[in-house]
Amino acid sequence: MSLTAHAGVLHLSPLARRRALLGWGALAIGFAAHHTSLSSVGHVVTNPAHAWRSIAGYSTIRAVTPFLRRPLTAPSQTSRFLSSRPPAQSVISFAKSHNMPQLTPPQPAPSWNHSAEDITRLTKEAIEKDRQLQDKIAALSHDQCNFESLALADGEAIFDSITEPLSFYQNVSPSKEIRDASNNAEVLVRDFGVESSMRLDVFEAKAAAEKNIKASGRELNPEEQRLDRKELTDLKKELSQVCLEFSKNFNEENGVVSFTLEELKGIPADVISGYTKRTVDGKELYDVTHKTPDIFPLFKYAEAPETRKKAHESYEARLEINAPLLTRALDLRRKITVLLGYKTWADYVTEVKMVKNAANVETFLNDLEQKLRPVGSKERETLLALKQAEHKEKNLPFDGEFYIWDYRYYDRKFIEQSLSLDDSLVKEYFPVSVVVPTILEIYQNLLGVRFEEVKGETWHPDAQMFAVWEEGAKDESGFVGYCYLDLFPREFKYSHAAVWPLLPGYAQHDGKRSYPLAAMVANLAKSTPDRPALMRHDDVVTFFHEMGHVFHGLLSHTQFSRFHGTSVARDFVEAPSQMLENWCWEPRVLEKMSSHYETKKPLSAELIEKIVKSRYVNVGLFYLRQLFFAKFDLKVHTDQEATDYTALWNDLRTAISLVKGGKPGAGQGSFGHIVGGYDAGYYGYTYSLVFAADMYATVFKRDPLDPALGQRYRESILKPGGSREETDSLKEFLGRPSNSDAFMKELFGNESGVDT
Ligand SMILES: [Zn+2]
Repeated sequence: MSLTAHAGVLHLSPLARRRALLGWGALAIGFAAHHTSLSSVGHVVTNPAHAWRSIAGYSTIRAVTPFLRRPLTAPSQTSRFLSSRPPAQSVISFAKSHNMPQLTPPQPAPSWNHSAEDITRLTKEAIEKDRQLQDKIAALSHDQCNFESLALADGEAIFDSITEPLSFYQNVSPSKEIRDASNNAEVLVRDFGVESSMRLDVFEAKAAAEKNIKASGRELNPEEQRLDRKELTDLKKELSQVCLEFSKNFNEENGVVSFTLEELKGIPADVISGYTKRTVDGKELYDVTHKTPDIFPLFKYAEAPETRKKAHESYEARLEINAPLLTRALDLRRKITVLLGYKTWADYVTEVKMVKNAANVETFLNDLEQKLRPVGSKERETLLALKQAEHKEKNLPFDGEFYIWDYRYYDRKFIEQSLSLDDSLVKEYFPVSVVVPTILEIYQNLLGVRFEEVKGETWHPDAQMFAVWEEGAKDESGFVGYCYLDLFPREFKYSHAAVWPLLPGYAQHDGKRSYPLAAMVANLAKSTPDRPALMRHDDVVTFFHEMGHVFHGLLSHTQFSRFHGTSVARDFVEAPSQMLENWCWEPRVLEKMSSHYETKKPLSAELIEKIVKSRYVNVGLFYLRQLFFAKFDLKVHTDQEATDYTALWNDLRTAISLVKGGKPGAGQGSFGHIVGGYDAGYYGYTYSLVFAADMYATVFKRDPLDPALGQRYRESILKPGGSREETDSLKEFLGRPSNSDAFMKELFGNESGVDT
């Protein structure tokens, strides 16, 4: 695949002006939106204030769709969490560093004691202030418009710093009143985004500024140039009610599929105990919700193929209601594409990403598919043979097909049989109370920082606050920022793992630094009456991944807030964290962070070997499935005409992912990414893996714990954030332009990706 760099410098063109005139959005006050990640790993979440300022408008509101920001967990699960977890274990103890001076951060920690009224009032005030700033800019005569007089960057940093924590409350606050107010605040910010996007007067002031800056010959420093360029070219468009409705349905989906105990045979008892039991006509039925912790164990363990099939068909059709909405959204996008003068929506969207255009995405995906197909086919044959044997043994009918509801079941069986690797045994070596502090310690040593726990106000007693300092800090100049960890499940809390970069770092007008703050919200594990909270290896990987986002948010150092940390191109933002996942597959790191909850012994070499071996099991089928999502997303955003999307969804899946479906359901209605800021963007999950693999193999593989390498990573990747082209950061870090050799080698064992 080709990953050449592009010098895609965008200037204010007649076309850009047309976009504004047409009301599809004036030049955005750009802020890169963030990202969610592949299947098991979590997200970086951006705030609504950023959403409406997002690059070229293509992510607008969709960057923060409710499906990312709001809890998905059903009440039955959350109350289970609550009842089974003794409160004493909700806070992790971290060793104190003794020989360090007691320092006071130069920036106080934010307050978390807002009332519902405060949230509403402060949000309205911030909006009013920002509106006044825009009025002031619009009132400038065109010869007064220049880089300084527009000063939008400063305004946006202040706006974000106020509104972001306020809209964060809805994910973590135990108070319904606060959560509602926080949610309403987000709506206000979104509405303001629409209003701002329609301001032709501000757009014209920016256009005048660009002209004047050019004419004056004033030299902008590289970061200023980038800001200017983005500001003058970033577009946004009206917020799509269709997308909002789609996301709302996504959040409110609460269907169930019911089974008898007999039908659930094979599923671990602790999972079944979480299903809601009811009696119908004297028969006991278990309701399985469509939420991940309920239905995924069913796919993995339920022995009866009919059970898995029924559950799959219910799951696939759960958001049928969204299918017409998607059709409408795509129709609208095609119309906008024509007006904007782009060939396809995908070209419009990818213009500001690393990949640069739809044709490059297609080449990337096709190339990868072609290489993965033979790998996936072999894996399918193996799993099918396993199925045949089991069906024979159990006297079940066998039609020679491998269905989508067979995949997770036989994938698990294959790992158990071929590696005799037992997930639940591995778990015993990863108590939360050991893993979390050890991972923090690994990061601190690697990146040369230290975490000091601060006993202060947070939004909930479970949340722990840390002041982060440079390792050798002697005075307040060594302050880095704040970090919050809110790691345990509780009712009404965001139900996945995600990082909110709540405050960006930037240089204030007076030259002083405004310090960043990153918060991780996760649901690591719960304890049971006779066991402490234990993490599966997957959870360990997720935590390590998320901490990667936290450090991206803490260790970036840019002039402007909009380039801070994770505000990089969306097809790059996951790369640092994806790279860091590698640490969780390194034997010496695994040994370091494991400690059996009873014996206190680390993982044995034998068990470590099995874990490492399991990493690439069925990798072909896994990535073919990812390619199916990516290719569906690309196709619907490059086609010139509407089509039967349900048929397309089902046909493409069969063709690409090599598994057969059942009754064709409108699965595209549950493809939240497509309205959640990942339109023509799903490829990014795989695309960024290329950079992740290259960075790891080229720099860290030789010694992932070497602080000198950590320093290099800080300087070249974390520090610049989005203030320069990602390809430049990569080149500096790697010592050469990035290429896909390491990725190919990782997946296929050789650099060409061809079976040799
Ligand atoms: Zn991530």
